[in-house]
Amino acid sequence: MKNLGKYSMGIGDRFGHQAEAQLSAIIKAKELGVDITPVWNKSYREHQIIHSQPSNTRFKADEAVKRLNWKGNYFVDADHIGMDTVELFIDSSDFYTIDVADSIGISPENDDLEKFLSENKKFIGELDLPNSSLKIIVTEKILENAGKKYLTAIKQAGKIYRKIEQLKGKGNFVTEVSMDETDEPQSPSEFFFILSAIASEKIPVQTIAPKFSGRFNKGVDYVGDVERFKKEFELDLMVIAKAVEIFDLPKDLKLSVHSGSDKFSIYKPIKDALKKFNEGLHIKTAGTTWLEELIGLAASEGDGLEMAKEIYSKAFERFDELCGPYKTVIDIDSKFLPLPDEVKGWNGAKFAQTLRHDLSNENYNKHFRQMLHVSYKIAAELGDRYIDALIKYKEQIAVNVEENILERHIKRIFPLE
Ligand SMILES: [Zn+2]
Repeated sequence: MKNLGKYSMGIGDRFGHQAEAQLSAIIKAKELGVDITPVWNKSYREHQIIHSQPSNTRFKADEAVKRLNWKGNYFVDADHIGMDTVELFIDSSDFYTIDVADSIGISPENDDLEKFLSENKKFIGELDLPNSSLKIIVTEKILENAGKKYLTAIKQAGKIYRKIEQLKGKGNFVTEVSMDETDEPQSPSEFFFILSAIASEKIPVQTIAPKFSGRFNKGVDYVGDVERFKKEFELDLMVIAKAVEIFDLPKDLKLSVHSGSDKFSIYKPIKDALKKFNEGLHIKTAGTTWLEELIGLAASEGDGLEMAKEIYSKAFERFDELCGPYKTVIDIDSKFLPLPDEVKGWNGAKFAQTLRHDLSNENYNKHFRQMLHVSYKIAAELGDRYIDALIKYKEQIAVNVEENILERHIKRIFPLE
């Protein structure tokens, strides 16, 4: 089985030019005493919008690893794949995020449901969790609902897993199951039965991404009840520990947090819980590295700044088209978006401060940030002009990419000792 390590981080890179700057943040973290396995993730959706190929992500990751002489493990994640898209990622990936959110809520076959209920009825009652005074309560109703809601999705994950296993060979890749892109969060007791079903399907899952309560909007802070999140996160950690103890699941199975970048208000509870229970974590960023490219371009003050302004004004005109596909994961109030004419008068520092996720800066505007986050299609349309600018302003951009990952993320999320 591939070793993902205790801590790992999914680093998205839409245009494939920041792998070195990203890895450099991981290397600095290692020097500070925290080992994190880098995982370059890119979904089918992103490849489609940018017209890039999975082989390119692999190429850039390998190149960065070689140049910076990284000796640790690293992976390339086929992010949010399904039965229809998995084959495109067979050659280039060694980490598969099997997304079965679309199958949640589809009624299972009667026989499958009966089998699931009879296997799991022994858990009805109070279930003690390891290493703590935490417990979950299981009723017949909770068990039955979990089966009706999630069993079809897990069966589907099993089919996709077996397809990858057949094409890549057992033990040659990391398997993640994701259920985050759905409307309703999974309760810790539902999560327990999801793990039970995964074990019955014999999926050697190493990371699992539930949907937590609260909103995980792209590129901005968590919106929700932090105390509630903290309880839920701790319970989920302990549900995994319990499941690993009693089911046939990999010992290194850990929680995966998707859209995990920029969720500053929940980082402390996450860090405290990882420390308290001595558990691992996989956290995926939301592809915000590309915003650091824009910040670096703007900070250049020259034609890089002009390009950043051009992207914003084009995006502003195409608001509905760009925001539509992301409407469940962004909250933009258009009355707080500056008009392109106003932005034209800004200097680079003002543009960078308005975009950079620094809550202590009075210029920061989360509406502007989210708008630009979903506007990478505009940059893709600029084609070589955009890529040439990335090369020209490589240094200004790298500083921002690295600082974002190291200072605003790694140091706040992972226990540093
Ligand atoms: Zn996700």
